[in-house]
Amino acid sequence: MSSKEHNLVISPIGDLDADEALLERLGEALRQSFGYPTDILPLLDEEDLWLDPVRKQYHSTPILETLSLISPPEAVKVLALTKVDLFIPILTHVYGEAQLGGKACILSTYRFSEEPVLAARIETFHCRLVKEAVHEVGHTFNLRHCGDSACVMHYCRSVSEVDRKSNQFCRYCTVILNDEMKRLAKETPVISEQ
Ligand SMILES: [Zn+2]
Ligand SMILES: [Zn+2]
Repeated sequence: MSSKEHNLVISPIGDLDADEALLERLGEALRQSFGYPTDILPLLDEEDLWLDPVRKQYHSTPILETLSLISPPEAVKVLALTKVDLFIPILTHVYGEAQLGGKACILSTYRFSEEPVLAARIETFHCRLVKEAVHEVGHTFNLRHCGDSACVMHYCRSVSEVDRKSNQFCRYCTVILNDEMKRLAKETPVISEQ
């Protein structure tokens, strides 16, 4: 039996591990939203990601499969964070992707940053990433897209829609999340090494 506590792992890819302010901000938001302690743990390098030679973007789904395999047993969920532009075949790009009710999700900073990120805009940049991080981790806790445009689980097609929504769950999503938390607590009371 392991004595390690269940946690949420934030896994920066590449030099994002140096962005302490962003990682701290995301950690705080995830602890507040999901009630688990967070840990920073780099698991992948940019060279591990497969670049689609035609699209010049990275397909997010295989990254999630790898992450869920290599994340430590105490990690309830793992959120990878990358600077590269992500896609799934049916869309031109995605801000992130998650395994619905699964373990792994990923978020890209690519569509939210203007290079260089000006100091005055860092707050906006962080706010957007907080919302989308909570959104992606929310999917791993079985939450689907929500019709309430203020709810963090609302699906946003544009950055301005992200700016308009809040970083909080609506009442409906809160109920579903709490049910899922209860179910998980019953399912995994202790961590055993497997
Ligand atoms: Zn979504
Ligand atoms: Zn909602």
